[in-house]
Amino acid sequence: MLADRQLLLKLITIVPIGAAFFGFVAGFFFHWNIFSHANKPLAYKPPVAEPSAKPSPVLENTPKPLPESYKGKVFMNVALAPSQKVVALTFDDGPLGGPSEKILKILKDNNIKATFFLIGRNAQANPGLVKKIYADGHVIGNHSWSHPYNRHTRAGAQAEIEKTSDIIASITGVRPNLFRPPGGLMHTGLAEYAKSQKMGIVLWSADSVDYRTRNSPARLIRNIFKSVKPGGIILMHDGGIRRANTSEALPMVIKRLRQESYKFVTLPALIAMDSKLPKKYIAHINKSVDKPKMVTAKTF
Ligand SMILES: [Zn+2]
Repeated sequence: MLADRQLLLKLITIVPIGAAFFGFVAGFFFHWNIFSHANKPLAYKPPVAEPSAKPSPVLENTPKPLPESYKGKVFMNVALAPSQKVVALTFDDGPLGGPSEKILKILKDNNIKATFFLIGRNAQANPGLVKKIYADGHVIGNHSWSHPYNRHTRAGAQAEIEKTSDIIASITGVRPNLFRPPGGLMHTGLAEYAKSQKMGIVLWSADSVDYRTRNSPARLIRNIFKSVKPGGIILMHDGGIRRANTSEALPMVIKRLRQESYKFVTLPALIAMDSKLPKKYIAHINKSVDKPKMVTAKTF
């Protein structure tokens, strides 16, 4: 009887202490688990190939390898002779349901192939659109995973770029070899990493400034025509935020460029034209490689 009472007293004392201790330990791990993940930088783990996975079908616009003269190089345009009236339309920050679909329809109606620089997390969220962009014959470039403007370590830059290439390759079967740094910023670590991986680093020579939503379609057209030239790379957006000005301006941009005898090509096709030129036209690309021009940061 006395032993039972002592046992009961012990239990009354030990059980709550034990429960409190267990609660503390469990609470600590739960807390650590949540917060350690919330602040973790983007990490890169190469995907593991599944042995049973069938190879992706090769589509008609499977890009050729980047020419040696463009590997790890930064360029704003491709130097063409004044008589070679060719430009590349480029669209950044997508894919995004609505804007990307409208732009794809305009391009298809006009039989134009363009280049889309996709944000990795947007590609992951909209795989159907990524497939459509590629199936329509457009070229897909890498525009980072999360569009950051801050300085990155090499591991952080690797994660931003490789995760994006992985998701694009898993959807289209083709790994991008062109990179456009978010905001055109050359010193955040991302362009440096892309350069080390021998990607071509693409800026632009004519900016529509469509990321300022207050800019009217007419203003976008004026901005483009201020600096359009043979071999030019035109910057527009199909993602980031829902803007109507780009898709409103695009048919007029195409019409006016055609009136001025311009033809439209993808970036790899534009680059391929460069290799046919005499040395004097190529010189200026090499100049921009050594001293990449700093471009003012923009909202998207
Ligand atoms: Zn962007």
